[in-house]
Amino acid sequence: MGDYATYLVPERCRVDAPEREELARRMVGWLQDKGWIAREKSDCVLGGDGNGWRFTPEGMRHMADTEDIGRHTCGFGVETYEEKGVFCNYEGGAVESACCPICEEDIGEGFFEVVAAWNTDEDWTRAVCPACGEESAITDWQVEPAWGFSQIGFAFWGLDAELTEDFVDEFAAVLGEPVRVVPVAL
Ligand SMILES: [Zn+2]
Repeated sequence: MGDYATYLVPERCRVDAPEREELARRMVGWLQDKGWIAREKSDCVLGGDGNGWRFTPEGMRHMADTEDIGRHTCGFGVETYEEKGVFCNYEGGAVESACCPICEEDIGEGFFEVVAAWNTDEDWTRAVCPACGEESAITDWQVEPAWGFSQIGFAFWGLDAELTEDFVDEFAAVLGEPVRVVPVAL
């Protein structure tokens, strides 16, 4: 069985370094105060530098209504990017459909080129549709399975169930902004 994670990614492409640090501290502190993750870091995640905070059994029950099934990779991590960040659903990313928010054309895997052009654009959010030529925010594209675009993402590794909607809402409320759920498999 491969490894998998669910990322919660803010809908903001740009999150500057001081804010990234503040958000990371706030979310780790909140999860620790609730008793849902360990106080000490360990090598329980695969993203970033491989170190995260292992879920407690209580945390797993609360976050995903599941039990500890003894996976080595099973914890919370924070990943940040110095430049524009992309959180892909699979290694390299997969696209079943990608619809422009303006013309609604499904350009499918043409989205890879939209992302590549966005990535080198000096603007933080601008994406240009190859079908209609209009500009929109990269985060407004309707992509299945979901991709995330931000300089920070919060990873939940190795839970064998989806995060509950209640927990995602709770997380977004503490973060202070909406998040996108991005399932990731390696
Ligand atoms: Zn379009």
